[in-house]
Amino acid sequence: MSAREVAFIADVMLGRLARWLRLAGLDTVYERDLDDRQLADLARRTGRVLLTRDHELARRRGVQAILVKSDWVSEQLKQVLPVLPTGAAPRSPRCPRCNGGLEPLGSSQAPSTVPAAVRESGTALRRCVVCGQVYWKGSHWAGISQVLAEDGSRPAEPISSPPDPLL
Ligand SMILES: [Zn+2]
Repeated sequence: MSAREVAFIADVMLGRLARWLRLAGLDTVYERDLDDRQLADLARRTGRVLLTRDHELARRRGVQAILVKSDWVSEQLKQVLPVLPTGAAPRSPRCPRCNGGLEPLGSSQAPSTVPAAVRESGTALRRCVVCGQVYWKGSHWAGISQVLAEDGSRPAEPISSPPDPLL
């Protein structure tokens, strides 16, 4: 694995893993409409590590791939996270929906979808620069920090999403 920041592309079976990796600050492409050939081409062209459940796809020539073994996302994270270079710069969470970067958002700018209790508590808010979704520290974060802490790869800036059926 090279010293530069690792980026991923996940196959159609790994949507949940992709969202967790994004929350952990890892640049992860996940597009449902890409077929196997397009996934392999994109991985080759961009140097992204292909995450797949498909033995044949994992063996494509010129593709750096990880054959993900478990059906469970916590086990999948434990398999994938150790490939990251140690001593890498701390990562900020990315938008689990779209992989966009998150920017700080003042509570006065919070949309009405953010509960008043959250706005008034002074909890730090973040907004996705691509899709506009607003996030704050919440219950989901406890789950991922636990998984990441077991691996020692805790992201620098703990943040989580509001209740989200995707997660
Ligand atoms: Zn987004």
